[in-house]
Amino acid sequence: MTVLRTENLSKVYPGSEPVVAVNQVNLSVEKGEHVAIMGASGSGKSTLLHLLGGVDRPTEGQVFIQGIDITSLDETDMAVFRRRNIGIIYQFLNLVPNLTVEKNILLPLLLDGRRPDPSYFQEIVHTLGIEGKLERFPQQLSGGEQQRVAIARSLVTRPAVVLADEPTGNLDRRNTEEIISLFRLVNQRFQTTLLLITHDEKVALSCQRVLVMADGKLEER
Ligand code: ADP
Ligand code: MG
Repeated sequence: MTVLRTENLSKVYPGSEPVVAVNQVNLSVEKGEHVAIMGASGSGKSTLLHLLGGVDRPTEGQVFIQGIDITSLDETDMAVFRRRNIGIIYQFLNLVPNLTVEKNILLPLLLDGRRPDPSYFQEIVHTLGIEGKLERFPQQLSGGEQQRVAIARSLVTRPAVVLADEPTGNLDRRNTEEIISLFRLVNQRFQTTLLLITHDEKVALSCQRVLVMADGKLEER
């Protein structure tokens, strides 16, 4: 089953010298697939991820998530669709400092007025090994632990797809390897579809597919 698909997706940043950040990208990702996107700085990786996540609008082309053309949704519908179907993890975690770990993880559901499924919540925090940290605040956690909380938060809505922009970019080797194995475990347990941007060869090799972005074009490696 195809979870995510783009058709001739392009993004041009206007200006006196317009930048073609994403150039006619056609991509198709199957349910449960783990895909790595590599490429030089400035090649358009983050812009592509923002288009896939509905955070930014394309200049041309479409993004389909579970068959729905998200580029046709208005701002309100897009915000709801994003909250329910897309999990996003950034390198600089954006956890909410004055909320506990538990509240941070549950936030996407709370914002949507939905109740968490307690057994699913338990399974996520157990899988990620943070069940003992739920009452803490983000600044009382290590970088690796904060990243686990961000992963848990991205999974809590059972999204169709998780998008991660350099999720291990500021972690050391040991934490990076732990996050890699956690993504694997999460994939086996929840059949999560994951697209991640990375500069780390080991992280890329842990994915089934590696794509390379160069000057806005995306190609299989
Ligand atoms: P990457 O994540 O691969 O480093 P980006 O997607 O951040 O690349 O950027 C791709 C290109 O688009 C770069 O040339 C960058 O300068 C440009 N760019 C990114 N964001 C903007 C913006 N908001 N306005 C104008 N140009 C931008
Ligand atoms: Mg980037």
